[in-house]
Amino acid sequence: MDTKRRDFCKATLIGGAMAALPAAHWRSFAAEPAASGGGDIAAVKLSGEPTAISALAVKEFAANLRGRLLTASDQDYDQARRVWNKMIDRRPALIARCSGAADVARAVAFAHDRELLVAVRGGGHSFPGYSMCNGGLVIDLSAMRGVRVDPIAKTARVAGGAWLGDLDWESQQYRLATPMGSVSNTGVAGLTLGGGYGWLSRSYGLACDNLISGDLITADARLQRVSAAENPELFWALRGGGGNFGVVSSFEYRLHPVGPQVLAGNLSYAPAQTRDALEYYGQFAARAPRELAVGLELARGGDEGDAAHLTLKVCFVGDPREGARLLQPLRTAVKPLEDSIRMLDYVKLQKQSDGPPLSDYNVYVKGGYVAELTPALIDALLNDAGMDPLVGIELIHCGAAIADVAPTATALAHRRELFQLLVLAGWKDSADNERNRAKVHAAWDKLSAFTSGFYVNLNNADQKAVDDNYGPNRARLTALKKRYDPDNLFRLNANIRPTI
Ligand SMILES: Cc1cc2nc3c(=O)[nH]c(=O)nc-3n(C[C@H](O)[C@H](O)[C@H](O)COP(=O)(O)OP(=O)(O)OC[C@H]3O[C@@H](n4cnc5c(N)ncnc54)[C@H](O)[C@@H]3O)c2cc1C
Repeated sequence: MDTKRRDFCKATLIGGAMAALPAAHWRSFAAEPAASGGGDIAAVKLSGEPTAISALAVKEFAANLRGRLLTASDQDYDQARRVWNKMIDRRPALIARCSGAADVARAVAFAHDRELLVAVRGGGHSFPGYSMCNGGLVIDLSAMRGVRVDPIAKTARVAGGAWLGDLDWESQQYRLATPMGSVSNTGVAGLTLGGGYGWLSRSYGLACDNLISGDLITADARLQRVSAAENPELFWALRGGGGNFGVVSSFEYRLHPVGPQVLAGNLSYAPAQTRDALEYYGQFAARAPRELAVGLELARGGDEGDAAHLTLKVCFVGDPREGARLLQPLRTAVKPLEDSIRMLDYVKLQKQSDGPPLSDYNVYVKGGYVAELTPALIDALLNDAGMDPLVGIELIHCGAAIADVAPTATALAHRRELFQLLVLAGWKDSADNERNRAKVHAAWDKLSAFTSGFYVNLNNADQKAVDDNYGPNRARLTALKKRYDPDNLFRLNANIRPTI
C-alpha cells in the first residue's frame, strides 16, 4: 500500500442521496451566506424555497436554549459546520448546539413551525453528509456525550451525540461492551439508527439489535420513550430506519461481557499470495464460529506497482486458547507475510483505525451486501474492480448473530448475507472530487452485480435505490412515516418518504 493510501485507510476505513435540495440551489445559497447582525436571516424551507427568519425570532430562540445558537456571524460557525467528510461544505442558516432533550424539542418545534429544512447531527460521520445542510437549521447534539453504565443490569444510557469510544470507555470499566463500529469517533446515533456493524456483531448482533429503549423527539416536538413495551411500532422503525422518525436524545443499550482483552490483529499477504488467500478466506469466513469476525482490505499501489495487497483483520471474542485453535488453519493454510494477531485491549482495538474526527480527506463510498465470495467475484475483485490505486475494497464479515434476526423483525431487512462489500476512496484535493467519485463508480460498476441491497450507512445512493432497499419493510415504514412525520421534516437521511 502506498503511503497516501495507507494514511487514508488509517484515517477513514471501516475496520479498520446527498441533501434533498437540488445541487444548483446549494451553490447559489453557499455563494450568498446568511445575513447576520441586526437583520433577518436568510434560510431555506423544506420545499427548497427561500425564506427569512426575523432577527427577533432568532433572538427568542437563542434565549430559549440552554445550549448555544450559532449563525454565520459567530466566530465558531465555520468550525461548527464542518463534518467528518471534507467533501461536505454546507452553510446552514442556524446551528442549535443542544444541551439536552429540552433544547432538542425546542429546536424541532422552531423548525416545524417555520417549515425549515432540518439536519440532525450526532457524530457527524455520515459519508454523504446527511448531518449538515444548506440554509436550514442544524439540530446539533455533539455536546451531548454523557454515558452512564449500570454494571448490575448490564445496560448503558448514552446521550444522542456520544461517540462510540465514549461508550466503549465507560463500559470497559466493567469489562462490558455492546456491538458498535470500529472507529471510536463515530457517533453512536447515526450508526445505531442505521444498523451498526462492528467486531462484536457476529457474537451479539448489530448495535440496533442491542437497543433497549430510546428517548425520541418526534416532528411534533413531543418527547416519547420508545421501547418494546412503549411505542413498539416506533421502536421497530428506529432499528434500521435511520433518523427518519425524529431525534433520539438518549439511547439505552444491553451490554455483554467483553475483554478487557480480545484476540485480534492482522494477517498481511504478499501480492503473489492474494488469490490463494482470498479463496481460502471465502471458505473460512463461511464456516467461522460466531465469536470470530474476519474482515478484509484489498488495496493496490506502492513499491510493487499495481499488485493487489490483501490484509485480513481478525477479532475473536472468547477464550483466547480456543481462538488460537480456531485461527490456526487461517494462519497456516496460506502463510501470511505478517501476522500481528495477539491479545489486545478491546478499547485499543476500537481506536486502531481512528483518524481525526474531522477528516482531511474527501471521501466517497459505494457498498452492498454479498451472499458469498464466489470465484467470479474473486476474479472481478482481482482483475477488474480495484485497478486504480486510489480505490480500496473492503469486506465486512456479517452472518451469525446478525442473521439470527428475521428480516422483518426490525426495519433493517438485510440479515442473511455473509458480507458487506465496500468500494471507497479518499483524497485531499477537493479539485479532484468529480474525477475520483467517477473512479469509485467505475470500480463499483464491475462489482454491483454481485451485490443485493446495501447498508444505508455505508453507501452513497439515490432515492430510488433507498426506496427499494427497505424491501419487505418499506410499506410499514412508509405508513409510520406518514403518521409520525407527514411533512418529512426529518429527510436528510436514507429517506423514507411519507407517500410511496
Ligand atoms: C470513519 C468511519 C468509520 C465507520 N465505521 C463504521 C463501522 O465500523 N460500522 C458501521 O456500522 N458503520 C460505520 N460507519 C458508518 C456510520 O455508521 C455512519 O457514518 C453513521 O451515520 C455515523 O453516525 P453519526 O452520528 O456519526 O453521523 P451523523 O452524520 O451525525 O448522522 C448520520 C445520520 O443520522 C442522523 N442522526 C444523527 N444523530 C441523530 C440523533 N441523535 N437522532 C436521530 N437522528 C440522528 C443524521 O440526521 C443523519 O441522517 C463509519 C463511518 C465513518 C466515517
